[in-house]
Amino acid sequence: MNELDGLRAIVTGGASGIGLATARLLSERGAEVAVLDLTALDPAGLEPDGAGGAGKPLHGFLADVSDDASVRAALAEATAHLGGLDILVNNAGIGAAGTVEDNPDEQWHRVLDVNVLGMVRTTRAALPHLRASAHAAIVNTCSIAATAGLPQRALYSASKGAVLSLTLAMAADHVREGIRVNCVNPGTADTPWVGRLLDAADDPEAERAALNARQPMGRLVTAEEVAAAVAYLASPAAGSVTGTALAVDGGMAGLRLRPAGS
Ligand code: NAD
Repeated sequence: MNELDGLRAIVTGGASGIGLATARLLSERGAEVAVLDLTALDPAGLEPDGAGGAGKPLHGFLADVSDDASVRAALAEATAHLGGLDILVNNAGIGAAGTVEDNPDEQWHRVLDVNVLGMVRTTRAALPHLRASAHAAIVNTCSIAATAGLPQRALYSASKGAVLSLTLAMAADHVREGIRVNCVNPGTADTPWVGRLLDAADDPEAERAALNARQPMGRLVTAEEVAAAVAYLASPAAGSVTGTALAVDGGMAGLRLRPAGS
């Protein structure tokens, strides 16, 4: 008996990185999992354990979270396929670099549209299904950028700050309907996204070393570590947990270390 047996989950942005690791883990723990993403699931990702064993195949549905009609259509198709919905993981997101002077209005609209309104659209479409579930849970992928000031991340941080507040407001609105809402706050995680950032740096090795050094644990977070936190918040074991932000950040938000050796 697995802890998520019989539960049905949707993971947005589940074709890559944290979303894919989450979809795989939920499946390994017994859930039936659909992935909504702009891009199709890599066929190699179809077997959740990567080796053709324990997990069930993931179900892929194309969707753009910045397009309400696309979200509604994909969510209707996915929930029909799953036979209902118990867990929604709002994870799709995009990045932006720069200070408050650097990003044009169009980019502000685009990033807020995907990172914040994307969660609004999927949640709005999912709520009627979640209300029918005995174990309804929503987990939003927020970020360390919501709780710590990071350089060159004004727009991205504003979007994740909104996700944190949205998580709390949604938790309050839906607690009496039996729907729990929480978020995870990853530190810098070693995903294809961060791989792209490193590739674009003048000196990728030095950039990776700087990112590692910013984490009190001296290394990046793994997608699987974030997935484990999402799976906990989504599971019936977290039945009394709502309106929380769970940091998975190597200590970045909470610790104040002295320099090594001092
Ligand atoms: P990723 O780029 O590896 O994966 C993101 C996925 O989202 C991709 O599959 C992409 O196709 C999908 N996506 C993007 N825009 C979409 C849209 N409009 N509609 C549907 N799908 C869309 O990135 P990741 O690092 O796994 O990031 C996932 C989430 O984690 C994001 O919300 C990000 O903000 C958050 N996060 C990442 C880090 C990190 O360091 N990697 C840290 C904190 C938070």
